[in-house]
Amino acid sequence: MDLTLSPNEEAFRDELRGWLSENHPGEVPTGDEAGFAFRVEWQKRLHAAGYAGLSWPEEYGGKGATLIEQAIYGEEMARAKAPDTANVLGLVMGGPVVIAHGSDEQKRRYLEPILSAEEIWCQGFSEPESGSDLASLKTRAVKTDGGWLVTGQKVWTTLAHVSKWCMLVARSDQDAPKHKGLTYFLLDMDQGDAVQTRPLHQITGEAEFNELFLQDAFVPDENVVGGVGNGWAVAITTLMHERAGLGAAAAASVRIALGQLIDLAKERGVADDPIVRQKIAALLIEVEALRLNAWRGLTQIMKTGIPGPEGSLPKLQWSAVNQGLTELAVSIQGEEGVAKDSEWTYRFLRARANSIEGGTTEILKNIIAERVLGLPKLR
Ligand SMILES: Cc1cc2nc3c(=O)[nH]c(=O)nc-3n(C[C@H](O)[C@H](O)[C@H](O)COP(=O)(O)OP(=O)(O)OC[C@H]3O[C@@H](n4cnc5c(N)ncnc54)[C@H](O)[C@@H]3O)c2cc1C
Repeated sequence: MDLTLSPNEEAFRDELRGWLSENHPGEVPTGDEAGFAFRVEWQKRLHAAGYAGLSWPEEYGGKGATLIEQAIYGEEMARAKAPDTANVLGLVMGGPVVIAHGSDEQKRRYLEPILSAEEIWCQGFSEPESGSDLASLKTRAVKTDGGWLVTGQKVWTTLAHVSKWCMLVARSDQDAPKHKGLTYFLLDMDQGDAVQTRPLHQITGEAEFNELFLQDAFVPDENVVGGVGNGWAVAITTLMHERAGLGAAAAASVRIALGQLIDLAKERGVADDPIVRQKIAALLIEVEALRLNAWRGLTQIMKTGIPGPEGSLPKLQWSAVNQGLTELAVSIQGEEGVAKDSEWTYRFLRARANSIEGGTTEILKNIIAERVLGLPKLR
């Protein structure tokens, strides 16, 4: 592929860079609540400038940006160290799924409040015994007058404690084969005891995610997305979008982190240590391979129109590089590296989740082996 930007793409980048230099909100304050409120305000500012739903078609309030523009956006945001948006799951997955599979009424109802961060979304897929093997999930949806009653437990539900809507996959037909008995629902989280969240604290001390308990939670018929029994196909669209969005921005952010690591090595007087140099060089090669793979993934999407299994490759590489990089930073810091309030220590601890969230490393390797390389199926 041609990596040179066209004049239009350069103009897009320069405009965004200019906007960011005037509108960057500064550092996210510490503390879960303060940090979240700050990111809501940041998303509102992005939305006002038309950047919140960059990839969404203009008719749904987006900017209709090309894939290259989306990649530029991800790179520029990473370069400027801009905060994440608050409604990240709604913007990256919820909105695109409603656009792809939702009814006209659902598009009218749900899309704008996602963009403006008025309604936060979460993703209720994983369960205590169904993570990688999502199709084995047990949460039941039973038909009732005008809708469904949902009972079961979800886990690792990021942002559930602040969400209005949950993209929920539940088993609506107990007798159908496991991939066929699923339905994709939009669950209103505001239902008192019927929908309860309990925070889960991560190794970083933060509580990004939750356990989610559902007891006869009601979902009206009009909140089924993509038709009853079609939940697997809709869920796959969600996951493809989750991985497709990641590549270019992830490559840019680890490139910046690598620069910081090099500065750290110089500051600590180990930049001429042959082992440290070797490790940094190996990381640089990985970072560059990640960047090129991210662009290769984009080329593939431009050809086929939909995110494909190639999106798994940058996700896999990014998690390995980020873990390697933060590990090296912590070891360079020596004793200080284990201090809880060090920025690198935080990043090292948070990076542990990278090889689990959004698909585990082992699962991504299976996808790449079977669906990208065409190797024989494991099962
Ligand atoms: C920070 C974070 C945020 C998350 N947010 C959400 C969220 O918002 N919503 C949501 O629904 N989920 C969320 N998750 C859950 C995440 O999607 C799951 O943790 C993930 O899919 C793995 O499922 P599991 O934890 O049940 O592990 P399991 O599937 O039980 O896997 C355990 C181990 O076995 C390996 N394994 C499993 N099957 C195979 C196989 N076939 N071949 C080879 N190895 C295999 C895995 O790679 C892993 O190492 C989040 C997770 C994290 C860490």
